[in-house]
Amino acid sequence: MTIKRNYIAGEWVEGSGTTRNINPADTSDIVGEYATADAEQARAAIAAAYAAFPAWSQAGIQQRSELLDRIGQKILDRKQELGELLAREEGKSLSEAIGEVGRAGQIFKYFSGEVLQLRGDIQPSVRPGLEASVTREALGVIGMITPWNFPIAIPAWKIAPALAYGNCVVFKPAELVPGSAHALTEIIVEAGIPAGVFNLVMGPGRVVGDTIVNDKCVDGISFTGSVNTGRNIAAAAVGRMAKVQLEMGGKNPLVVLDDADLDTAVECAVNGAYFSTGQRCTASSRLIVTEGIYDRFVEAVLERLKTLKIGNPLNPETHIGPVVDERQLQQNLKYVEIAKEEGGNLVFGGEQLQLETDGFFQQPALIIDTTPEMRINREEVFGPVASVIKARDYEHALELANDTEFGLSAGIVTQSLKHATHFKRHAQAGMVMVNVPTAGVDYHVPFGGRKGSSYGSREQGSYAREFYTTVKTAYTSA
Ligand code: NAD
Repeated sequence: MTIKRNYIAGEWVEGSGTTRNINPADTSDIVGEYATADAEQARAAIAAAYAAFPAWSQAGIQQRSELLDRIGQKILDRKQELGELLAREEGKSLSEAIGEVGRAGQIFKYFSGEVLQLRGDIQPSVRPGLEASVTREALGVIGMITPWNFPIAIPAWKIAPALAYGNCVVFKPAELVPGSAHALTEIIVEAGIPAGVFNLVMGPGRVVGDTIVNDKCVDGISFTGSVNTGRNIAAAAVGRMAKVQLEMGGKNPLVVLDDADLDTAVECAVNGAYFSTGQRCTASSRLIVTEGIYDRFVEAVLERLKTLKIGNPLNPETHIGPVVDERQLQQNLKYVEIAKEEGGNLVFGGEQLQLETDGFFQQPALIIDTTPEMRINREEVFGPVASVIKARDYEHALELANDTEFGLSAGIVTQSLKHATHFKRHAQAGMVMVNVPTAGVDYHVPFGGRKGSSYGSREQGSYAREFYTTVKTAYTSA
């Protein structure tokens, strides 16, 4: 098997070691073998990005816009093949994987146009005879550290704006999903990126990630991943006064009110909680349901769960693929046990499934009659596990929804304009969904949360410029 290499300073280079990319639906299927970088190679990538920055940041927006358009088109042209690769290495269903690849392509296309929209301001000075102008400039070298659950879309929504606004990139993907990262890098190279502007360093977080976070030549760090890693990265980055942006966990509530359309409520709950194997930071892991609809809702979700097919993601009939790896599977099973021990009532699934191939399959779990203080309602599981909490009325449901240290996405299913409007204003979350699942977002509007879920400026859409540019105020005497 050829070893897929890192890309540093315009060259494909061997690593100091290798890792095997294993298909979580069939552990006998090796997706590929990938080079792992060490700290020295990470430093070489940073040095290359640093050296490339003066020319790239001064390159015209026409050149950058065209490059992004080419990258976006190449991704879209290879949607099927890249979707299969993604499904094989991460485990989401093929249709979800192809959808994610399509999203990555659209993001590059979007920023190809968005970079042409960059504006400044000219204002009269408060001092006579002077004029003040406010412009945006590229930040510098950006380190990107990404998680495994969206192996191409999350890198795309960081890389595209970074390159668009004239930054140079050092990209470290999650260890479990080097395949999509490597394929994306091949496309970026084929599209004609100048040497040093974009670098791929695959490898362990505590070596490669840590080097990126602590190198004084890295001006900004955009991180998506778990809360603990995010906290440590923020402390290190702020300690040396680097710009930092973190997207982390969630414990997203879906509120279902008595007046909800039952079918909509069930679709929102099942899609939001279990699709993509529940491995979405925006997954609805807490279903908060008012008394009048509680029994009917639980019954209908149970019926819907029975229709879901768990299996190989490449099989078109599969709704839910495997959990990403053994460690995550054990974590899911552990949380199901904790929920039961604390008094939750497991009414569906929650066990490992043995299918025809050796993989990390799990039956989605539904735990009812839970209370807000239980660990299942406070800690992120990151798997196909949802808990149901009974609420007295809308006000109680809102209070429960906000009773969390996270604040990424919050949803409500109701036919009441009054309650929907109130919820949009009072849910303590960066994103609010009315009669749609908590997961599933557009790429041209901001993405991000509050409280423990996010730190720093928003990602995606025109708001991405807050992170990837720095503001300059210039005074001119006329
Ligand atoms: P993780 O924190 O374990 O790893 C994320 C990345 O950080 C990986 O690339 C990893 O190698 C790197 N890393 C690990 N230790 C590091 C260190 N000491 N220094 C620098 N980098 C280091 O997270 P994960 O398990 O890959 O992803 C799952 C988590 O990501 C979940 O908590 C989920 O909620 C979160 N997530 C959040 C969003 C969001 O936008 N809010 C999106 C997707 C996933």
